[in-house]
Amino acid sequence: MLRRSRMLETEDYAPQRAEMVEKQLRRRGIEDPSVLAAMLAVPRHEFVPQELRTKAYDDMPLPIGGGQTISQPYIVAAMTSALRLQSTDRALEIGTGCGFQAAVLSLLAEEVLTIELRPELASAASQKLTSLGYNNVHVHCGDGTLGLPEFAPFDAILVAAAAPASPEPLLAELAEGGRMIIPIGDADNQDLRLIEKHAGAFSIKILEGCRFVPLVGHHAWQKPPQR
Ligand code: SAH
Repeated sequence: MLRRSRMLETEDYAPQRAEMVEKQLRRRGIEDPSVLAAMLAVPRHEFVPQELRTKAYDDMPLPIGGGQTISQPYIVAAMTSALRLQSTDRALEIGTGCGFQAAVLSLLAEEVLTIELRPELASAASQKLTSLGYNNVHVHCGDGTLGLPEFAPFDAILVAAAAPASPEPLLAELAEGGRMIIPIGDADNQDLRLIEKHAGAFSIKILEGCRFVPLVGHHAWQKPPQR
């Protein structure tokens, strides 16, 4: 029993990852080959707590500490696809969490900046990303609803926590032709929205329903909403 679980910890979970990509992503309509390749490449089990490694490729979000979660693989892939990243893009993520989504973005964009509110998550994610060699990701600690004006504009912005509305600073930091994906709604239910900026105007497309932990900050909820 013990030996078996040790073996599972040391192998690289490649078969589980391939099965996840096929069953949870490709069969559910994720088509972009570069997104599928990135999801096949990033070792998700390295980003989840040790005791949950064997569940890392299951079709569900998982707890990462502090009441926060790593999103279900399908949601990570769907949000990434919606951004239509180019290899020259600079991307901003709000809500680093464990760093998994940032690692996926980093394989598709030139540079990824990511902001995490909780210092313990920010430092753990930063160390993990560095140790795995994701050198084009930069983790910042702070309130992501304020954006990162000194590094703007961004070609793509991914908000990985639920907001009551799109934070104004993030809309302002989108480049011309830029895309932002964000879950908007109340504490229990949100819709993923794809917002695009063209000639200074925004178009909004509503994608699928989802459920994220709350975005807590100056331009979102001041404190976590009651569930
Ligand atoms: N993308 C993450 C999952 C994010 S969970 C991953 O791959 O693991 C949402 C994260 O948003 C949590 O870690 C939470 O602490 C963070 N968060 C909430 N409000 C925030 C804010 N205003 N700025 C930055 N991060 C925030």
